[in-house]
Amino acid sequence: MKRDTEIQRIALVTGASRGIGRAAAVALAKAGHHVICLARTVGGLEETDDLIKAAGGSATLVPLDLKDGTALDRLGASIFERWGKLDALFANAGVLGALSPLTHLEPKIFDELLAVNVTANWRLIRSLDPLLRASQAGRVLVMSSSVARKPRPFWGGYAMSKAAVENLALTYAAECASTAVRVNVLNPGGTATAMRAKAMPGEDPSTIPQPEDIAPLVAQMLSPEWTENGAVVNYREWAKS
Ligand code: NDP
Repeated sequence: MKRDTEIQRIALVTGASRGIGRAAAVALAKAGHHVICLARTVGGLEETDDLIKAAGGSATLVPLDLKDGTALDRLGASIFERWGKLDALFANAGVLGALSPLTHLEPKIFDELLAVNVTANWRLIRSLDPLLRASQAGRVLVMSSSVARKPRPFWGGYAMSKAAVENLALTYAAECASTAVRVNVLNPGGTATAMRAKAMPGEDPSTIPQPEDIAPLVAQMLSPEWTENGAVVNYREWAKS
């Protein structure tokens, strides 16, 4: 079957309605990808679409809750029908939960951290793996955080979820080693977004990196030229180099 964009790279960005996901979606469009933008907030997705169009790119909007695993299975089938492959997956969407002692964390918050930050990414990988393998250079980038490896009081729920998703990503990287798929992890460091403002309400956002600062590294790590597999890249260290 001949599909409409065999020559173009197709990228899926989760959490594309704002923050780092939005900036990355625009950067990927500028780098020549057709970008499938996923999040729950339709208005936010539409604003991302406007930015992509203004940059001369194209997008498909997918308003979807990542907690809906069956919908993620259907998404894989839809991408297969339309494009037959997926070249880049930016597994970016995440929630912070609540910063509190582990013993005070509400079970529903703990469950959501696992559902969005971990289970959804496993369901995505499970659904999209055949499509990534169908690409000449499938690339996956999973968002982590410094607390995944450096436990900090009150960040336990979020940190646990990032440690889990980092391990998930690195295991998948090892499983893909003999294929053309490359799977890596990014720790962006503190970045001026809604999540950061929730975690650090007193901070002046102009004093830390902006989502647009992180986006070029995301586009680079999702390009065919990025051949490293199983790397955990720290934005601050990359920016210094
Ligand atoms: P934001 O809160 O600004 O954006 C989060 C994105 O995730 C939104 O687009 C949101 O869309 C989406 N999302 C959340 N829950 C769901 C869901 N159930 N279904 C679908 N989409 C969902 O966060 P950031 O841009 O700051 O964070 C991006 C990633 O970077 C996260 O994984 C975060 O943990 C990580 N990170 C961020 C740091 C920072 O300082 N900003 C530092 C270290 C890591 P919507 O609400 O529309 O569904």
